[in-house]
Amino acid sequence: MVKLMTYAGPAAADAPGTRTGGVPYTPSAFEWPRCRECAGPMQFLAQVSLADVEPGSSGLLSIFMCQNDPGLCDDWDASAGGNRAFAFGADAVHVPTPPGDGVTLLDETCAVHFEQVDVEDYLEAPEWWHQRSGRPAREVLGQVGGQAAWLQNDETPQCDGCAHPMTFVVQLEEGHDHRTSANFGGGGCGYGFRCRSCGTAAFLWQR
Ligand SMILES: [Zn+2]
Ligand SMILES: [Zn+2]
Repeated sequence: MVKLMTYAGPAAADAPGTRTGGVPYTPSAFEWPRCRECAGPMQFLAQVSLADVEPGSSGLLSIFMCQNDPGLCDDWDASAGGNRAFAFGADAVHVPTPPGDGVTLLDETCAVHFEQVDVEDYLEAPEWWHQRSGRPAREVLGQVGGQAAWLQNDETPQCDGCAHPMTFVVQLEEGHDHRTSANFGGGGCGYGFRCRSCGTAAFLWQR
């Protein structure tokens, strides 16, 4: 079984819970992340309510990536500093004002619907879903929980805190509309992870 995320229409930029785009919910002390390569502010891509991933969990996984110089900031790498992921707790109730410089937001905020589908491999799910729903395969926005479906080698990151492999949380497609999508190299997937013990998070993408 795979738990799919599918496009559920436009959402308000500050809609609570899981969505792609819009403005992140953060703790009050949050500082908008900047790219280690170019020092520009990162683009907010998505937040995932951890309760949607594992019943009984709380908080948000929040994902940012530099798009100020697409392709030049190693934004695909989990540790190069061109992206950031955060595991926020229940205090993530503030909506910060994005910095005035750089590329900080996507052009559409998308609501997400969750659907359990009976496929073994997530990579087969968009076509499977398209066949059954009649909707474009591109409206599959990703998956949560279970196993990451790698497009290349398994690149599960190690936690900076405890050096254990991190837990897979979310796999993101670029989006349902190429005009408002995230940029994972043109057809790639993003992968978000966390360490439950340390409260750390990581992100990378492949294509
Ligand atoms: Zn950058
Ligand atoms: Zn850890």
